[in-house]
Amino acid sequence: MIYIGSHISASKGYEAMGRQALKLGADTFAFFTRNPRGGKAKAMDEADVSRFLALAEEHSFGKLVAHAPYTMNACAAKEDIRRFARETMEDDLARMEYTPGNYYNFHPGSHVGQGSEAGIEMIAEILNEVLKPEQTTTVLLETMAGKGSEVGRSFEELQEILKRVKLKEKMGVCFDTCHVWDAGYDIVNDLDGVLDKFDTVIGLENLKAIHMNDSMNPFASHKDRHEKIGRGQIGLEAMKQIINHPKLQGRPVILETPNDDAGWAEEIALLKSLHSG
Ligand code: FE
Ligand code: FE
Ligand code: ZN
Repeated sequence: MIYIGSHISASKGYEAMGRQALKLGADTFAFFTRNPRGGKAKAMDEADVSRFLALAEEHSFGKLVAHAPYTMNACAAKEDIRRFARETMEDDLARMEYTPGNYYNFHPGSHVGQGSEAGIEMIAEILNEVLKPEQTTTVLLETMAGKGSEVGRSFEELQEILKRVKLKEKMGVCFDTCHVWDAGYDIVNDLDGVLDKFDTVIGLENLKAIHMNDSMNPFASHKDRHEKIGRGQIGLEAMKQIINHPKLQGRPVILETPNDDAGWAEEIALLKSLHSG
C-alpha cells in the first residue's frame, strides 16, 4: 500500500484541494501553507476544513505533506530572516492542527557561508522553540541536493539536526528522490544500500514521506532540477523499485515534477499501475 499525489494549489481552500486531488486520481497531496515566496497565510475557514476532513476520511486519504515556503531559511545569517522563519513555522504549525496528524515539510536552510555546523545549530534552535508537546503534526526535514550552502545534503547532516531536537517524536524526514540522487546517493543502482545507509544513520522509521521526482542532472551533480517521471537521469525502473520497496510501504509519495494537472494525473496513474499490491 502506498499513497500517491502531487502538489495542489491552496488558493481555493481545503475542500477544493481534496476535490482536485480526487480529480487527479490522488489519495494524498502536498500544498504550500502560504505563498511559496513567503507572505501572509490566509485565515482558516473551519467549515471548509471540516468538509475537507469528511472528504479525506470518505476516500481514505493518506497523510498530507504540507510544504513550508521554500524561501524560509532557518539558518540565515541575518537575524530578521531567522525570526521570519520561526514565526512562519509557528503560525503554520498552529494552522496545521486544524487538520490533525499530518506532515509539515521544510527545507532545512542554507547556511550562507556560516558553515554547516552553525547552520545545524540554528535550525535545531528554531525547532526547539516552535515544537509543542501537544501538537499532532510531524515536522519533516527534507533531504537536500546540496546546491550552494544547503544544509541537509547528507543523511548525517539531517541526523545532526534531529539529535539536537528535544521533541524528537515530533520530527521525521522527507526523502526527495531528485535531491538524494543529486546529493550522491545511488538510488538507481543501489537502492537497498541507500536505504540501509538511511536506516543506520537516521532510522527508516523516521522516513515519513517521499518526494518523487526525476532529475535533469547526473548522479552527484548537486543541482536540484526536477524532471518528469521517467524522463530524467533516474528513470522509471528506479522509481518502480522505490514505490514497491517493502521498507517504504504506507508512505505518502508526492510528485513535484514540472507538469500541469493533466501531466500529474498521468504520472499518478502511471505510478499506481507500477505499484504491485
Ligand atoms: Fe521541497
Ligand atoms: Fe522536494
Ligand atoms: Zn528540489
